Amino acid sequence: MSRPPKSVLLLGGTEEAYRLAEKIAQEPDWCCITSLAGVTRNPKIPPGELIKGGFGGVEGMAGYLRERGVSALIDATHPFADQISRNAFETCGKTGTPLLRLERPPWPAQPHWQCKSNVKEAARFFQNREERVLLTIGRQEADEFHISPSSYFLVRMIDPPDSPLKISNHDLLLMRGPFSVESERRILRDNRIDWLITKNSGGKSGSNKLIAAEEEGVSVCLINRPELPDGEKVETVDEAAEWLLRL
Ligand code: NAP
Repeated sequence: MSRPPKSVLLLGGTEEAYRLAEKIAQEPDWCCITSLAGVTRNPKIPPGELIKGGFGGVEGMAGYLRERGVSALIDATHPFADQISRNAFETCGKTGTPLLRLERPPWPAQPHWQCKSNVKEAARFFQNREERVLLTIGRQEADEFHISPSSYFLVRMIDPPDSPLKISNHDLLLMRGPFSVESERRILRDNRIDWLITKNSGGKSGSNKLIAAEEEGVSVCLINRPELPDGEKVETVDEAAEWLLRL
C-alpha cells in the first residue's frame, strides 16, 4: 500500500511561491498548502490547497502545523514581509519543523542611488523637497510620504487603498506588473518623473523600472530589505523543490 502524501506549508504572496506550488503539485509524495495573508483582492490562485487570512501569530501557526501534521515549512513570502518570516522562524524552532526560506537575491545598489533603511527614512529624505516621484512600494506604507506636501507622488499599486491616501498631492496608478522597460520609460516620461522610490524587492521583471530610470535620467531612492532571522535559505524555486524532495 502506498503511503499518504506529506504536507508542506508554503507561505506565499510572491510569484516564486506560485511557481513552487506548481512544481510541488507534480510530486506524488507531497501535498502543498499555500497560505496567503489575504491582503491582495484578486490573487493568483496556485494549485493545491489554499488558506488565507493568517494564523494569529506564532502560537496559531504552531497549532496549525500540529493539527494538520505538517512535515515542512517553506517561507516564500516577499523580502519585506518580515513579520510573517520571523513568526515562521520562531514557530519552526518551537515545533521542530524543517524550515526553508526562498528569497530572490536583492538588486545590487548603484553608488549614485539614495539607499534608505526603511520607508520612514525615505519619507524623511523627501520631506522638504519639491519633486515629481513615482512611488512603487505597495499600498500599506505609502501614507508615510504625507510629510512631503511640496512633492507630487504618482503612487503605483495593485489594489486601491482601503481609505484615501493622506499624501496631499498624488495620483493613483492601479496596475499589476510585470512591466517592460519600454512601458516603465513611458510612465516616467509622460508624468515628468524625476525620482523613483522603490523597495529592493529583487527579481528580473521588477528591475525594469530601475533600468528605465537610469535610461531616463531619473534618480533612484532604494529602500533596503529588513533583517530576517538567519535560517537555511535558497534563491530559486528549483533549489526549494530539491530541498523538499530530500526530506
Ligand atoms: P507581514 O507584515 O510580514 O505580516 C503581517 C501579518 O500578516 C502576519 O503576522 C500574518 O498574520 C499575516 N501574513 C503575512 N503573510 C502571510 C501569509 N503568506 N500567510 C498567512 N498569513 C500571512 O506581511 P506583509 O508585509 O503585510 O505582507 C503580506 C503578504 O503580502 C505576504 O504574504 C507577502 O508575501 C505579500 N507581499 C508583501 C509585500 C511587501 O512589500 N510587504 C510585497 C508583495 C507581496 P498572523 O500573525 O495572523 O499569522
